[in-house]
Amino acid sequence: HHHVDHATPTKVMELATGGHTHPEVPAYQTLEQYVSEGGYEVLKACLSGKHTVEDVIATLSDGGLRGLGGAGFPTGRKWTLVRAEKGPRLMAVNGDEGEPGTFKDRHYLETRPHQFLEGMLIAAWAVEAEEVFIYMRDEYQAVLEILRAELPKLQAANLAPHTKINLRRGAGAYICGEESAMIESIEGKRGLPRHRPPYVAQVGIFNRPTLVNNIETLYWIPQIIEKGAGWFENQGTNGAKGFRSYSVSGHVANPGVILAPAGSTANDLVRLCGGMKEGHTFKGYLPGGASGGILPVSMADIPLDFGQLEKHGCFVGSHAVVILSDKDDMKAVALNLMKFFEDESCGQCTPCRNGTEKAVQLMSRPSWDKELLDDLAQVMRDASICGLGQAASNPLTSVIKFFPDDIVSGSPAAPERD
Ligand code: SF4
Repeated sequence: HHHVDHATPTKVMELATGGHTHPEVPAYQTLEQYVSEGGYEVLKACLSGKHTVEDVIATLSDGGLRGLGGAGFPTGRKWTLVRAEKGPRLMAVNGDEGEPGTFKDRHYLETRPHQFLEGMLIAAWAVEAEEVFIYMRDEYQAVLEILRAELPKLQAANLAPHTKINLRRGAGAYICGEESAMIESIEGKRGLPRHRPPYVAQVGIFNRPTLVNNIETLYWIPQIIEKGAGWFENQGTNGAKGFRSYSVSGHVANPGVILAPAGSTANDLVRLCGGMKEGHTFKGYLPGGASGGILPVSMADIPLDFGQLEKHGCFVGSHAVVILSDKDDMKAVALNLMKFFEDESCGQCTPCRNGTEKAVQLMSRPSWDKELLDDLAQVMRDASICGLGQAASNPLTSVIKFFPDDIVSGSPAAPERD
């Protein structure tokens, strides 16, 4: 049985031209509209000296803002670290959003791009970045159109007198979302992750101290400064602070970007998405895209926040939650994800390059050798250079741990879903 794709005329045209048609740009909030609702006032207060950098950093820290690209590093602390490095300094915006199941940054860029841009310009002011490089996922053609239309307006309105803005396009490599690989890519080189230390805050683009922030992280900044740390802090639940934009996909009735309190649970998200799709029973979920592992429905009441899932060998990362059902074979899900990592491994280090390939072979067998796979996963976790190789085995070890019934000897790997 095949899902019949009733191609729209646009889709047909894209196929005929190799995808290079003019993208359909959604109705987004323009500069004029943003300004008319009070936009850029916070930036102006910063540039005119009404706000001090120290006060702004304290507000972000008190509000609990953390890196929403997936690492969750406290934003205020990162700014302080970069500021402590000798100038000239630079800034990069990570708009690669390549983690499977993640589409929240796109949502904000296609609806309220200037709220993000204001946050970006405030960050550049705070670390005195001479230049900003926006690294944008090339698949986001509409977003690129929006930025090409709106960025020149910032110069015209004299909103960016303190920095120079560059727009760079990624070329579809998952690894270029890893910040040091992204920096290599911005420098015009192949996207190979760097060893750390030194951290990019110390040695970043062209060896200069570099602030790297994600789109959504920057998006929240104007509102946090305007409404206060307490406002943001109090949006969270279950001990977490702030809002989170969960990208929810899988077998829920209404998938999409769900703006919810930080610390919400998978059960909360399923409810907010109108329950499960008809005919599906909630069985498990990916809490953090392809790399965050897989948890069973019996653990769907854990707060989805940084630091909460690690003890189970999982993490929330960019808050991409994929809901799986009784129709999913967890072994096949894990194999599919491992194949993804095998494809996307940059090949630079052996544990990841050979480990993902070996894991795919072993996981394709009708019955899993748990001991051997656990051993391989351990080596990949301990010896890989970057997060891709370190986290690639999370789905595998999760299935071994939480879905023992799915890997019983003799159960064939289910065919891949389309
Ligand atoms: Fe490249 Fe994988 Fe090594 Fe990362 S872990 S540097 S993706 S080979």
